[in-house]
Amino acid sequence: ATTAHADADYTIATDTTFPPFEFQVKGGQYKGIDIDLLRAIAKKEHFTYQLKALSFNAAVQQLSANQVDGVIAGMNITPAREATFDFSKPYYTSGVVLAVAQGSHVKNFRDLKGQTVALKTGTAGAAYGKSIQGKYGFKIKYFNDSNTMYNDVKVGNSVACFEDYPVMSYGIKNGIPLKIISKQHNAGDYGFAVKKGKNAALLRKFNAGLAAIKADGTYQKIINKYLHAKE
Ligand code: GLN
Repeated sequence: ATTAHADADYTIATDTTFPPFEFQVKGGQYKGIDIDLLRAIAKKEHFTYQLKALSFNAAVQQLSANQVDGVIAGMNITPAREATFDFSKPYYTSGVVLAVAQGSHVKNFRDLKGQTVALKTGTAGAAYGKSIQGKYGFKIKYFNDSNTMYNDVKVGNSVACFEDYPVMSYGIKNGIPLKIISKQHNAGDYGFAVKKGKNAALLRKFNAGLAAIKADGTYQKIINKYLHAKE
């Protein structure tokens, strides 16, 4: 990777583990759709950056606190976030789903009554879960990363979790023993974020680079590499 410049133009935060958008491979390197898109866009637009992997919530908080210049982390463009952040053009469509352990007795939202549901702090999935908690009467337990959240469902401490559809389905295909039992709840498309009113040049470059890699086929190649081909 070409991203660890001490003198990079920008510091860009991502999530620690959110495959296929970002995940760590042996040796500590990061891979994934977001990572490859950012690399290709930076190359087109001639900027350098240092990648900073944080929990999703910490990434968003550091962006609000001006400690990083941008976030690319499968982050939904939502009206609430648009009060604090400026987003790029959307680059991927996603929605939130409910997942349970394979063989679970939980078949629908009503079965969550009195049970514990796992949520990932600061995410659109968590906001959705919280918004229907009263209606369905479940308890909530928060996690900082997706893997730990899935594991809590797998071992049966929590009966279900809310996660983004493309991430949950990729995880299940790659051996996570959960299953999706709901339709997708729309939570806004993924976008690259900067703090509102800051880093307009970076945002402009991201949008220009995104348009360029869509036009020359690089964008589709990256999507295909992670989603339509078995590695
Ligand atoms: N897409 C979700 C959000 O924006 C979750 C992102 C993540 O967990 N990295 O809140």
